[in-house]
Amino acid sequence: MLAFRAYGVPMDLLMFNIMVASLSLLFFLAFLGIFFYNQQLKAAGWVALAFLFGSLALLVDQNRTVLESYFIDKLAEPLFWSSCLAVVLAYASRVSARPSVPLLGIALFVGLSTMLVISHLPQRAIIMDWVSAAILLAGVLVLWGHRNGVTDKALCYFTLFSAIVAFLRPFIIIADISPGAWTSAFAFYQAVLYLSSSILSTVGANVIFVALGVDLIERHQRDAMVDALTGLLNRRGIDRFLDEKEALRGENSMAGHAVLMFDIDHFKKVNDEFGHEVGDNVLARLGSTIRQLMQYHGTAGRTGGEEFVFLFNRESTNAAFLVAEHVRVAIGMLDHKGLPENHRITISLGLAFVREGEPLKRTMRRADAALYEAKDAGRNRLRIADGDTLPEIDEKLNIPKQTAQPGGIDLPDVGL
Ligand code: GH3
Ligand code: MG
Ligand code: MG
Repeated sequence: MLAFRAYGVPMDLLMFNIMVASLSLLFFLAFLGIFFYNQQLKAAGWVALAFLFGSLALLVDQNRTVLESYFIDKLAEPLFWSSCLAVVLAYASRVSARPSVPLLGIALFVGLSTMLVISHLPQRAIIMDWVSAAILLAGVLVLWGHRNGVTDKALCYFTLFSAIVAFLRPFIIIADISPGAWTSAFAFYQAVLYLSSSILSTVGANVIFVALGVDLIERHQRDAMVDALTGLLNRRGIDRFLDEKEALRGENSMAGHAVLMFDIDHFKKVNDEFGHEVGDNVLARLGSTIRQLMQYHGTAGRTGGEEFVFLFNRESTNAAFLVAEHVRVAIGMLDHKGLPENHRITISLGLAFVREGEPLKRTMRRADAALYEAKDAGRNRLRIADGDTLPEIDEKLNIPKQTAQPGGIDLPDVGL
């Protein structure tokens, strides 16, 4: 406050600054509340810190002339940079990306080292703003690759705008621009600094509020569609995914995709002999194996207790047969916690290729019928739906061709 009075800035601005500091503290509390409500939202914790540092920076800066200690006098700039840095870390944790360490390192090194040797306040103000601009730029770089939704774009461009403001602001001092009524360009600069940073932080807080709200909703929606035990889509997730896929394809139908249905063999016995918990471990292990082996080929879901569905991407449909066989053999080789070492868990599978104009639900029923043929034929095997033929590429690979016999082709069992 005294700093303002010393430079002859109108009293109204002092009141304005007190308001801004209080507002920042309020934002600090609000984001802290969000963070404690859901500690997975680490970004909210970082934003809370940003507002805490920001309001402290404001307090130190306003009282700079009455602060006698050499070190306290130097506190405002590092606090301000910490505030910007916390914003960058909030963005980074939100999109799970790493901010540019060299950019941040150079900015902070230049800032801290020059601030210690320069005591002339206007010169320090220039450094403060340019270092903040560089830190905010690191935030823009973090967000740049993640501009998917409206809120992401708003956050990215808003941060870019803030960085540009921080870069341009010192030109008031450099070019010595000040309205005649005020005594110096630096006083004018300080008024612009407080006004612009308070407007930017208030707008920024609201944009981040919205972004975090969207994150929270998306997280809940995702959780509601994923099966907690296997990490695969649950029934609701599968229905939603298939509906969206079909709606997207529209008239073109889903021809070119393939559907795989599979089911654990004699799973009831595992539960009966070794307990439900061991059964759950088996399901979890299968879930992670399926995700690891099949994630690049399509989308997997758990349709029921120990039954699964997999929709192949168009690009992977040619390899559907091989992928399905690979998964069958790989699962049959797993060891499971709580089961004797030689106790193998096997699956039976049914594969169907989506026909021109065929609804996915019908392809799934055909794949299911093939699965039950695999069960009838002795389990631990893959069957292709009646009448379906393997795509071209598999013929070249010399895989037994579909014959006219009912129940699909007979594949050699892999001894385990
Ligand atoms: P099949 O080879 O014919 O498929 O025999 P199966 O025993 O696997 O089939 P069945 O449908 O008779 O039994 C399925 C069993 O799966 C019944 C139930 O105990 C078990 N199960 C279903 N959901 C879960 C689950 O979430 N956890 C555990 N541990 N077991 C489950
Ligand atoms: Mg079963
Ligand atoms: Mg079953």
